[in-house]
Amino acid sequence: MAVGALKNSVQYLKGVGPKRAVQLSALGLSTVEDLLYYFPRSWEDRKETPPPRAPESGHVVLKGRVVRASAIFTRGSISLYKCTLNVPSWGDTIEAVWFKRMSRRYDVFQTLKAEVKAGADIWIVGRAQDSLLKLKEVQVDEYYGLDDPKAGFHVGRIVPVYAATEGVSTRQLREWVAQALQESDHAQDLLPRALVEKRGLLAAPQALRGLHFPRSIAEMEEARKRLAYEELLLLELAWLLKQRQTKAGTKGFAYELKRHLLTPFRQHLGFELTAAQKRVINEIFGDMQAHAPMTRMLQGDVGSGKTVVAVAALLLAVENGYQGAFMAPTEILAEQHYWTLTKFLKDLPVRLRLVTSRLKPKERAEALAALRDGTCDIAIGTHALIEGDVAFKDLRLAVIDEQHRFGVRQRSTLRQKGPPMDLLIMTATPIPRTLALAMFGDLDVSTLDEMPPGRAQILTTHGTEEEAFARVRQQAQEGRQAYIVYPIISESSRVDLKAAKAEFERLKAGALAGLRTELIHGQMSGTQKTKIMEAFARGRCDVLVATPVVEVGMDIPNATVMVIQNADRFGLASLHQLRGRVGRAGHASECWLVADPQTEAAKRRIAVLCETADGFRIGEEDLKLRGPGEILGTAQHGELSLAIADLFRDAEIQAQARADGQEMLDADPKLAAPQNAALRRRLVDLYQNRWHMVDLA
Ligand code: ADP
Ligand code: MG
Repeated sequence: MAVGALKNSVQYLKGVGPKRAVQLSALGLSTVEDLLYYFPRSWEDRKETPPPRAPESGHVVLKGRVVRASAIFTRGSISLYKCTLNVPSWGDTIEAVWFKRMSRRYDVFQTLKAEVKAGADIWIVGRAQDSLLKLKEVQVDEYYGLDDPKAGFHVGRIVPVYAATEGVSTRQLREWVAQALQESDHAQDLLPRALVEKRGLLAAPQALRGLHFPRSIAEMEEARKRLAYEELLLLELAWLLKQRQTKAGTKGFAYELKRHLLTPFRQHLGFELTAAQKRVINEIFGDMQAHAPMTRMLQGDVGSGKTVVAVAALLLAVENGYQGAFMAPTEILAEQHYWTLTKFLKDLPVRLRLVTSRLKPKERAEALAALRDGTCDIAIGTHALIEGDVAFKDLRLAVIDEQHRFGVRQRSTLRQKGPPMDLLIMTATPIPRTLALAMFGDLDVSTLDEMPPGRAQILTTHGTEEEAFARVRQQAQEGRQAYIVYPIISESSRVDLKAAKAEFERLKAGALAGLRTELIHGQMSGTQKTKIMEAFARGRCDVLVATPVVEVGMDIPNATVMVIQNADRFGLASLHQLRGRVGRAGHASECWLVADPQTEAAKRRIAVLCETADGFRIGEEDLKLRGPGEILGTAQHGELSLAIADLFRDAEIQAQARADGQEMLDADPKLAAPQNAALRRRLVDLYQNRWHMVDLA
């Protein structure tokens, strides 16, 4: 038997009719194969409980013969069913008790009477109250006849526990999975034999059996390893195929290094590019000059100088007569980029346009017309630039700043918009390698691993508000500036905003009296925000009280103190980003985390931040604390999720899977060879039909 049986509908399993099939499909389970890959959420040790030596309470599993049984009716709706069970392995008898709502469960009571009667041999699974040694009474949750052929799935062993759903219990799932396992015993292995041998893996049937119904923890671990490998191999193959497909394409336009913009740009920068910046710019230019469209991610810690790199790429496009788009996650950051670029390109014939929703209708219409007729070279804005109905004359390069969340869906959407385009995604939250491979496996990655010279250390302290404000006043006296940031969950939350406003008034009247203090938040109009940011940038304001709108990208070199209020409410990446707003111009800087962390995770976040400034370490910690889904926001985006592999634990397996995937595709680019047929079919099921990531036609 081969694939056929795996693809059978669950409906053909015993006990699954059309109604159950519908309930199962709510769990995403339509075929026998789906069921096999519905992995347990946990396991329960249901081997027979040894006799207690000391008073004990808790979970017990026992096998015995019923000595006598009787129903006890009480007033009210609860009644008891009670039996005396002789348990040979204990050399003793115990009392087993069932609580039932007899009025409603008359049928259950009848079944009990028929099945649990004197002389019957049964298993019980239940809970012992108080002292088992003394009372010998067990409250029964489940029972099975010793001669029930299904008992073996539920008792006397380690049993799987599944995430159940309305109408489908873990007990039923256990029986159906067991049946599915029987049917699939001879099913074809997804992995080619050579690979199973090379990596010393369990064969598929053993692995599936060992995961659902392990005989030991060791066996379960072996099984998990094999299935994690399989899952990661499929994922890496999908990414590698996508990457190969992109690289096989041609974008149909060519670049020449003319340098009439790039050379003066470099000359007027006012600083030397770091070696890392030069290297990365070369990598990007290499991609842009190649036939295939670029899909590159630029990683660089906060302050590593990504903007200059982006400008160089944009200028290459403009030199060649094409348009570029520079996109930021927020409008305020887009505005800042606009100023920065205006400054960088002051004396160059490059036409910039800021496109945000804050433009007046007339300005916006003008800007859009300029993009359309090509009288604008670089458009700066948010994602709305490429997501909406904005039309470009000849857009060839999209730079997306601070967006490691720019997932596969968004990338595809962008790619579908018009002719092929080069794509550069920049992120300051260094993503651990394992995560990058799993979530962006088709991207080429460049890393800015060097900071521009003259960066000061930022002293990070977990301290009190008083200490922090004392430093703010001190620094202001020396002509420096400070940020005080309040957490708000969403920029549109009224409650949070009110709190921030109240705080602002409190500070102005108290701790920061006499300083020039301004408030900035996400609900202000664009012009208001711009005015305040400008005042701060020009040094006409000492302290900026802000909501996290300042989180990414702001670049005010004279700011030397960052105070983060209720720092325990921020995630690690945000804290690191916020801290990166200071220490930008070689002035000794400091970051104060004001917090009273309640949870272990919050304590850990604060400790990590005080300990290290290394973005990569922070990224790793973030992955450990939050898991990949939350970091990437995959839950909201409905993107890839892993059922069994753990990017943290399985980093080595993942590296193997990636290498094996490369090798396979080198030898068999379309996975057309017979030994790869099963893998190919699964790949199509998962990543072609479900995620549209690959096209194996
Ligand atoms: P990020 O990578 O966080 O986006 P930015 O591009 O905002 O960093 O750069 C941070 C600051 O460093 C800016 O003020 C920028 O002008 C400056 N900068 C960038 N490259 C260099 C360099 N090679 N030498 C000195 N300063 C630089
Ligand atoms: Mg930046």
